Amino acid sequence: MDKYVFIIGSGFSSLSAACYLAKKGYKVTVVEKNTTLGGRARQFKKNGFTFDMGPSWYWMPDVFEKFFKDFNKERSDYYSLTKLNPAYKVFFGKNDTISIEDSLHKIKKVFEKEEKGSSIHLEKFINEAKSNYDIAVKDMLYKMPGISPLELVTRKTILKVRSFISNIRKEVNKGFVSHRLRAILEFPVLFLGAKASKTPAFYSFMNYADFGLGTWQPKNGFFDVVEAMVDLGKSLGVKYLINCNVESIELEKNKVKGLIINKENHLCDIIISGADYAHTESLIQKKYRQYSKEYWIKKTWAPSSLLFYVGFDKKVPNVAHHNLFFDTDFDKHAKDIYDNPKWPSNPLFYANFTSKTNEKTAPSGCENGFFLIPIATNIEDNYKIRSKYFNIVISRLEELTGENLKKHILFYESFCVNDFIKEYNSYGGNAYGLANTLMQTAFLRPNIRSSKVKNLYFSGQLTVPGPGVPPAIVSGKLVSDLIIKNEKII
Ligand SMILES: Cc1cc2nc3c(=O)[nH]c(=O)nc-3n(C[C@H](O)[C@H](O)[C@H](O)COP(=O)(O)OP(=O)(O)OC[C@H]3O[C@@H](n4cnc5c(N)ncnc54)[C@H](O)[C@@H]3O)c2cc1C
Repeated sequence: MDKYVFIIGSGFSSLSAACYLAKKGYKVTVVEKNTTLGGRARQFKKNGFTFDMGPSWYWMPDVFEKFFKDFNKERSDYYSLTKLNPAYKVFFGKNDTISIEDSLHKIKKVFEKEEKGSSIHLEKFINEAKSNYDIAVKDMLYKMPGISPLELVTRKTILKVRSFISNIRKEVNKGFVSHRLRAILEFPVLFLGAKASKTPAFYSFMNYADFGLGTWQPKNGFFDVVEAMVDLGKSLGVKYLINCNVESIELEKNKVKGLIINKENHLCDIIISGADYAHTESLIQKKYRQYSKEYWIKKTWAPSSLLFYVGFDKKVPNVAHHNLFFDTDFDKHAKDIYDNPKWPSNPLFYANFTSKTNEKTAPSGCENGFFLIPIATNIEDNYKIRSKYFNIVISRLEELTGENLKKHILFYESFCVNDFIKEYNSYGGNAYGLANTLMQTAFLRPNIRSSKVKNLYFSGQLTVPGPGVPPAIVSGKLVSDLIIKNEKII
C-alpha cells in the first residue's frame, strides 16, 4: 500500500528527506508557504543583481558529494564548483588584512608571518581537527538520530572525551598568542551559533572544514544547490507546492491524519516538518506538544541577523568574494548577542560580493554586496534601527577599503528579526536555529520523532545534527532513515 508523506517547508533538510523517501517508494509532497523553494537559502533578484538570501559559505563539500552519490548521481551532473582563492579576507583595520588562501601549506606561511612558531601549532591543531572531522562525519553524523545517549559512545569518541569537556577558546589560546590568529581560528564557531568558550573543542572539526577542505562556490551561488536537489527530487517523483501555508496538523487521537493547507484538508500517512520546531508544534493541539514555552525560552539560540542586499553601480576594490570585518572586539559584540541581548554598539560584520567571481550576478561594471551582522534573537527591529546599521556598515566599508561607496549605491534591501519571523515562522527571528553547545548536542536536541504524535517527524537546523546546510542535508537523511525503518511500505 502506498504511503503518503507531506513535508512542511522546503529548506535543505526537507529537500534531502524528500529525495531519500521518494527513492524508497513513498509518495512525497513538499509544501512551502513562500513563493520560492529553498527555505532560508532563497534567491533574490533585482535590477540585474542576484543575491543568495541566506547561506553563502559552501563548506564540507564531501557531504554534498555523498548526497548525490546516494542516488547514483554526481554533484557535477547538476552544478559546477570552484575552490575559492583566497577563501576569504579578514579586515582588522585599514591596510591591515589577512587573506586565507586555498591550502594549509599557504595558510601556515601566513600564520608564521604573523606569529613566529605558530605554523607548528597550526599543523598540530589542524591534525587534531581532522581527526575530529573524520570521527564526526564518517562515524557519527549519519548514525546519530539523537534518540539515545548511547549513540555518542563509541570506541573513538571515548578517546575524545577531553575534547567534549574542553572548549574551542581554551584550545585556541593554548597554541596562539596573536589576537588576530585567535579570531580567525574562532571564526568557524560562528556557524555553530554559540560563543567559542561555550562550544566543545571537538567542534574544531569546523577548522578542518575551513583550512583543510576549503571554501567552495557553486557557479551561480547557493541556489544552484536548491535547484539541483529539486531537480533530483522531481526525477524521483516528488511534488513541490509553493504558496502553501500549513495552517494545522490534523490528528486522529494521537496519530497524524493530514494537514490543512490554505484552508483545504489534505490526507496523509506521515508528516515531516522542516519548519521551525516551535512553530510546528503550534500547529497541533496543546496536549500533543512535547515542549513548553519555558523549554524554548531556556534554549541557547543561534543568533538572528541583520542582512543587507546592496546593488553598487561600480566595482568595490580591495575586497574578496568573502570578507570578515573583524576590526572590532567580538567578545563585546558576543555579549550583546548572548549575555545581555541588545543591538551591538560596535558590531563586526561579514560581507560577500559574488560578482567578484561570477560577473553574471551583477550588471557589467557593478557589484552585488551581501552584508550580515549577527545579532540577538527577539530584539526590537524597525527601519530606523536598520538604516542606522546600514550607515555603520557602509561607512566602515568605505574606511577599510579607502573607497567612496555611498554615492554608488543603486538600492539596498534589508532583512532582519521581523522578516525571519514573518517569512519563515522562525522562533524569536533566529537565523540558524539552536546553537551547538554541549547541552544542545545529539540526543539533547529536540526529537526528530514526536514522542506524543505517531507518524510526526521533524528535520532541520533545530534538530540533529544542528545548524548549517551540510547538517540540514544530513538531517533529511537521518529522519528518512528512521521513517523507512518505522513506517514500512507493505
Ligand atoms: C543569513 C543566513 C546565512 C547563513 N549562512 C550559512 C552559510 O554560509 N553556510 C551554511 O552552511 N549555512 C548557513 N546558514 C544556515 C543554513 O542556511 C540553515 O541552517 C539551513 O538552510 C536550514 O535548513 P532547514 O532544513 O532547517 O530549513 P529552513 O531553511 O529553515 O526552511 C524552513 C522552511 O519552512 C517553511 N515554513 C515555515 N512554516 C511553514 C508553514 N506553516 N507552512 C509551509 N512552510 C512553512 C519556511 O518558509 C522555510 O522555507 C545561514 C542561514 C542564514 C539565515
